[in-house]
Amino acid sequence: MTTPAIRFDKVSRHFGDVKAVDNTDLEIRDGEFFSMLGPSGSGKTTCLRMIAGFDRPTSGQIYLYGQDVSNLPPYDRDVNTVFQDYALFPHMSVGDNIAYGLMIKKVPKPERMKQVDEMLELVQLKGFAGRKPSQLSGGQRQRVALARALINHPKVLLLDEPLGALDLKLRQQMQVELKAIQQRVGITFIFVTHDQEEALTMSDRIAVFSQGKIEQIGTPSEVYEKPASPFVAGFVGTSNLISGEVAKRITGSEQMFSIRPEKIHLGTEGSGLNEGMVSIDGTVRDVVYLGLFTRYLVEIEGGNDLVVVEQNLKTTSMEVLLAKGKKVRLQWHKDHMSRVGG
Ligand code: ATP
Repeated sequence: MTTPAIRFDKVSRHFGDVKAVDNTDLEIRDGEFFSMLGPSGSGKTTCLRMIAGFDRPTSGQIYLYGQDVSNLPPYDRDVNTVFQDYALFPHMSVGDNIAYGLMIKKVPKPERMKQVDEMLELVQLKGFAGRKPSQLSGGQRQRVALARALINHPKVLLLDEPLGALDLKLRQQMQVELKAIQQRVGITFIFVTHDQEEALTMSDRIAVFSQGKIEQIGTPSEVYEKPASPFVAGFVGTSNLISGEVAKRITGSEQMFSIRPEKIHLGTEGSGLNEGMVSIDGTVRDVVYLGLFTRYLVEIEGGNDLVVVEQNLKTTSMEVLLAKGKKVRLQWHKDHMSRVGG
C-alpha cells in the first residue's frame, strides 16, 4: 500500500474545555479529493489548520507522506492553503500574485513567466496577467488564489471553504472546474465545507464531522446511501429515520433504518405491493410544489411524518396540490433501506 498523504494518529486539539478535535484517526490517500464536511464548530477548520501547521495538536501525531510534521512550522511543510477571502495582494498584478511563491524562491524571471502562463491556462485566465485583483470578479479572484497556491506544486493543497463567498450558480460552475483542475494536476486536495451538496459533487471521499469527531468516512454514495449514524443521515441530504413500533410494522424489527425521500413511491390507498417492496400507509399532511419536484409530508399512524419527493414528470402544480389530505400507500424497495447505527 502507498503511504497516505496525511495520517492522523489519535489527534486531539482542546481549547480549555472545548474539544475542537477529539482523539481522531484519519487517513487521506495520495492524489484524492478529500472533503471535511460538517456543521459550524464541528472541528473541520481546526483539522485543516493543524495540517497546515498554523495550529498544533494538544496530543497525537500528524504525518505528511510518512513524516511526522506535528511540530514543524508551516513553511517547513509541503502544503499550501487557499482561503475563502482569497488573500491576494491588492497592489500586485494577477501575474505577480501568481508568481509570488517563485519570486521568494528566486526562480529566474523567464522561468517564472513560463510557469505563470501555464497556471493562467490551467485556471482559464489567459490574458488576465496584467490586471489588478480589484478588476476581477469573485470567481476569477478565487482562480488566481488557486493558481498562486498551485504554482509551488505542493504535495497537498488545503482549501478552506474557498467557494463560500460565491453565488450559487458560480459556485456550482467552480465545483466542476475545481475537480477538473485537481484531476489534471493530480495533487491531494483537502477541502473544508459545510455544504453537503458541494462535498458530494466533488469528493472522492468525505469525512463527516460532528462535535470534534469523525462520524463517518466514505465515498459520496456510501455516505449518502449508507449513513453510519442518525447525524450523518440527517446532515447529508434529507433522510427519513424510522425506528421502534413503526419500523417493526415494516421490517419486523425495531432497529432504526433510514430511507431517502426520493426512493419512496407514493401510491393510492390499497395499491398492490410489487416484488421486493415494503409499504406503509399514511395521510398526506402537506404538499410543497418546487417546480422540478414536489415534496410531500406524509403522516404515519404512531410515527413521525415521512418526507417523500417525486419528480413532476407528468403532473401539474394543480394536480399535486390536490393530494393534500388524501390517504396514500408508501412503498420502497428493501434494498434502499439502510440500517443506522449498531
Ligand atoms: P466553521 O465551519 O464555523 O468554520 P468548524 O467545523 O471549522 O466550523 P472549528 O473552527 O474547527 O469548527 O472549531 C471547532 C470548535 O473549536 C468550536 O467550538 C470553536 O469555537 C473552537 N475553537 C476553534 N478555535 C479556537 C480558539 N482559537 N480558541 C478557542 N476555541 C476555539
